[in-house]
Amino acid sequence: MSLSSKTAVVTGSTSGIGLAIARALAKEGANVVLNGFGSADAIEKERAAIEREFGVKAIHSAADMSKPDEIAAMIKLAETTFGSVDVLVNNAGIQFVAPVEDFPVEKWDQIIAINLSSAFHAIRAAVPGMKTRGWGRIINTASAHSLVASPFKSAYVAAKHGIAGLTKTVALEVATKGITVNCISPGYVWTPLVEKQIPDTMKARGLTKEQVINDVLLEAQPTKQFVTVDQVAALAVFLCSDAASQMTGANLSMDGGWTAE
Ligand code: NAD
Repeated sequence: MSLSSKTAVVTGSTSGIGLAIARALAKEGANVVLNGFGSADAIEKERAAIEREFGVKAIHSAADMSKPDEIAAMIKLAETTFGSVDVLVNNAGIQFVAPVEDFPVEKWDQIIAINLSSAFHAIRAAVPGMKTRGWGRIINTASAHSLVASPFKSAYVAAKHGIAGLTKTVALEVATKGITVNCISPGYVWTPLVEKQIPDTMKARGLTKEQVINDVLLEAQPTKQFVTVDQVAALAVFLCSDAASQMTGANLSMDGGWTAE
C-alpha cells in the first residue's frame, strides 16, 4: 500500500498523536501538511526530518483551528502547494477540566471550536476536491470520551460525542464518492502531555510512579497500559488502505478495554 502522489493534512501535528500520524502517512509516501503550535525551531526540525527520512515534501501551516477562515486557508494552501488534499486527519484538540457550573464560558467556546467545529470547517473545505477526484480518507481523532463521559469534562465530552456524530453524517453523504470517514477513539495515549503530569501527581498524592499510572491515570483502562501514538498512527494508515475501503462511518476504539466496561 502506498500513498505516494497523495497529500495528507494532519491538524495538531506538531506534537503527540498528530505528529505520529503525519510521520506514518509520510512513511507511506504522502506529502504532508503539518499544523499546530510550538517553537519555530522545533517545528522546522520535525518538518525537515519528515522530508529527510521519508523522501516526501512537508510544509507547516500555523492555522489556528479555532478560526474558520484560517482553516479554509490551510486547505487551500495544501491544494495549491501539492495539488490535492487526499487524506484529512482532524486531530487538533485541547482539554480543560472543571465542574460544569464553574466551567469558564470562553473555555467551553474554545474547546467546541478546536475539538469539534474545526473538523467541520476542514471537511467542508476538503470534500469538494475529494469528490472531484473520487478518492478521499477523512480520519477524525475522537476519544473514549466520544462514547462515555467523565465528570468535569463537559466541553471535551460534548465535542468528542459531536465528532462521532459528524463522522457518521459525512460518511453517509460521501459514501458513493470513494471517500471514507471514520473516527479513532483512543483511551489514554502516552504523549509528552501525559508523561509530564506524572512527577507532579506523584508529589501531590505521595504515590509511586507505578501507582500514579495504574491507580490514577489508567484507573479506567483495564489493560493498565497506555496506548502508544504509533498504534494510533498504524490504525490511521490502515484506514487509508484499500483493505479499509468498506470501513466508513465507524468509531474505532483503541482504549485497552475502557469502553467495554
Ligand atoms: P498534544 O497536546 O500532544 O497535541 C495537540 C496538538 O494540537 C498540538 O500539535 C497543538 O499545537 C495542536 N493545537 C492545539 N490547539 C490548536 C489550535 N488552536 N490550532 C491548531 N493546532 C492546535 O495532544 P495529543 O495527546 O496528541 O492529542 C491529539 C488529539 O488526540 C486530541 O484531539 C485529543 O483530544 C485526542 N486524544 C488524546 C488522548 C491522550 O490520552 N493523549 C486520548 C484520546 C484522544
